[in-house]
Amino acid sequence: MKTQSTTLDITKASSSRISEVDFDNLAFGKHYSDHMMICDYKDGQWQTPQVLPYGPLSMDPSSKVFHYGQAVFEGMKAFKDEDDKVWLFRPEDNFKRINISAERLAMPAFPKEYFFEALETILKFDKDWIKTGKGNSLYIRPFVIGTENGVSASPSSEYKFIIICCPAKAYYSNPVKVTIAQKYSRSADGGVGYAKAAGNYAAQFYPTNLAKEKGYDQVIWTDANTHEYLEECGTMNVFFRVGDKLITAPTNDRILDGITRKSIIALAEDEGVTVEVRRVSVKEIVEAAKNGELKEIFGAGTAATIVPFLGFDFNDEYFELPQVENSYGARFKTRLQDIQYNLAEDKFNWTYEV
Ligand code: PMP
Repeated sequence: MKTQSTTLDITKASSSRISEVDFDNLAFGKHYSDHMMICDYKDGQWQTPQVLPYGPLSMDPSSKVFHYGQAVFEGMKAFKDEDDKVWLFRPEDNFKRINISAERLAMPAFPKEYFFEALETILKFDKDWIKTGKGNSLYIRPFVIGTENGVSASPSSEYKFIIICCPAKAYYSNPVKVTIAQKYSRSADGGVGYAKAAGNYAAQFYPTNLAKEKGYDQVIWTDANTHEYLEECGTMNVFFRVGDKLITAPTNDRILDGITRKSIIALAEDEGVTVEVRRVSVKEIVEAAKNGELKEIFGAGTAATIVPFLGFDFNDEYFELPQVENSYGARFKTRLQDIQYNLAEDKFNWTYEV
C-alpha cells in the first residue's frame, strides 16, 4: 500500500511546541502537532502539496465555505506500539470516504499519492506527539474547503485540502445516556447523511443541546420519514445486543459507512457471533428492554472506539441497560485496540505501518 514518491514542498518547523502540552491532562482538540499539510486546488488541478509548520490560514471573508458550507472532513488515528512503530488503521478507507464525501459536495477528488505521502511525512516529523499505551493516539483531521472568493451560490472553483493532527486520549468513552430522536432528524433520503459534510454536524448541535438539557449525552437519530427506525448516534454507528445477537442498521444514503462499524461486524462474525445488518425499530428495542432481552447498546467510531450506553430515553421513559459480564462492547474494543496497537495478529490486513 506504499505509494510512489511525488514531490512535496516541505518546510520543517524550526522548533517543536510539544513541551507546551500536558499529555497527562489532554483536552481533545486543544493542541495541534508541529506540522500540517495544505494543498491548493486551482485552475482545474491540485497543486504541489505543502507540508509546513502548523499555523493560521488567511482567507478572504467572501470565501464560499463561510457562506455555503462547502466543506468535508475525515477522522482517523495513528497509534504507536511498544517498539515505537507508528500504525494507521484502514487509512485507505478514510481516503476513499473523503472523496465520496467530496463528490457529494461537488468538490474535486484528491489524489491518493498526495494523501499518503503528506500523511506519512507529517507522522514522521511529528512522531513524538504519538504516545505509546492503549487509548493514546494522534487524531488526524483531513478536510477540504471551498476557498474561491465571492458569495454567489455555486460550487467553488478553488479548494484547500488540509491535514492537521492533535494528540488524543480516548474521548467520551465514559458510558453515555442517550435519547431517541422523535422530532429532529440528522439526515434524509437523497441527502448528505452518508457524507462527512461539515453541515451535518452543525445541524446536530441544537437538538443535542436540547437532549443535554434533559440530562442525556447524545441523541440516537431515527429515520427522518417515520422516526421508527434507529440509525446512528453523534459521531458513532450503533450496535444493539439482543440475546446473543448483534444488530446494526444497514448503511444507506442517510448513514455514514463507519470504519469502526465494519471492523466490529468482521470481528464479531470471526468469533461466531450472529450479526444482523438490518433496520432496527424503536418498538423492537423498547420491547427487548422491557422483556430483558436487550443486553447492550454501544456506539462505534474512530474518536471513541466503542462507547457503552448506560440506558436510553424514549417518550420520556428511561430504560436502563443491565450490567452484563463479558460484554460484547468491551470484548470487541479490546480486540480492535489489540490490532490497532500491534499487540495482536492482524489477520484482516487492516493496519498500515508508517
Ligand atoms: N457516524 C458518523 C455520523 C460519524 O461522524 C462517524 C465518525 N466518522 C461515525 C459514524 C463512525 O465512523 P468511523 O468508525 O469511520 O469513525
